[in-house]
Amino acid sequence: MTVKPRLVLLGKQGAGKGTQAKSLARHYDIAHLSTGDLFRAQAAAGTAFGLEAKRFMDDGELVPDAIVMGVVEECLAPGGPLADGFILDGFPRNKAQAVELERLLDGSPLHAIVHLDVPREVVVERLSERRVCVKNGAHIYSVVKPPAVLWICDECGGEVVQRDDDNPDSINKRLDTYERDTRPIREFYKASGHKVVTVDGVGENRVVFERLTSAIDAAVV
Ligand code: ADP
Repeated sequence: MTVKPRLVLLGKQGAGKGTQAKSLARHYDIAHLSTGDLFRAQAAAGTAFGLEAKRFMDDGELVPDAIVMGVVEECLAPGGPLADGFILDGFPRNKAQAVELERLLDGSPLHAIVHLDVPREVVVERLSERRVCVKNGAHIYSVVKPPAVLWICDECGGEVVQRDDDNPDSINKRLDTYERDTRPIREFYKASGHKVVTVDGVGENRVVFERLTSAIDAAVV
């Protein structure tokens, strides 16, 4: 593929977006933006903006659009990290963000919106078992697939912990917010003539990755 794809990855919390986006970014040589990872890193660094975002994240609430858009706009600016192909993971999260993204992308539209589809009961189980590296949120483990040395990240040596928002109350609240605010984005993209592809996210990571690249290769021509 010569063109560097511009992709949005949609799916419920725990669908595997973080794991797959990281592999896809490497495969297509594009940037991976996870707004959640970015906010968590800022919160861990103790910046004013990160601490503000953390208040919402810990409650399982969305961070206000104005804060999110400021960050995304900066990343999308000419010469910014997303200027040469990207996969967006965890953004857009509602229709207002999708509309704003269209405005920011003026002249360089998205190639595909990929929906990674996993049933709710499966993601609830995955989220309860999930453990993540505090240094890099894209390094993801679980109680059934721990790092080789407990609980030290195989990839970077960071501590591997349960995320503050991976508790039952927050998980259910986030999934309800997904149904209400995020699910309708697919209809928005379809109605505005975008390619929206759904990929089955149940199965081994490697198998899901192959399904994703086949779908993306067919959509990005
Ligand atoms: P999850 O999808 O499992 O909730 P993320 O890492 O994508 O995990 O996001 C964690 C939290 O960060 C969200 O619950 C929300 O508070 C905040 N967040 C991430 N992306 C956005 C966004 N695009 N808009 C609003 N809030 C966001």
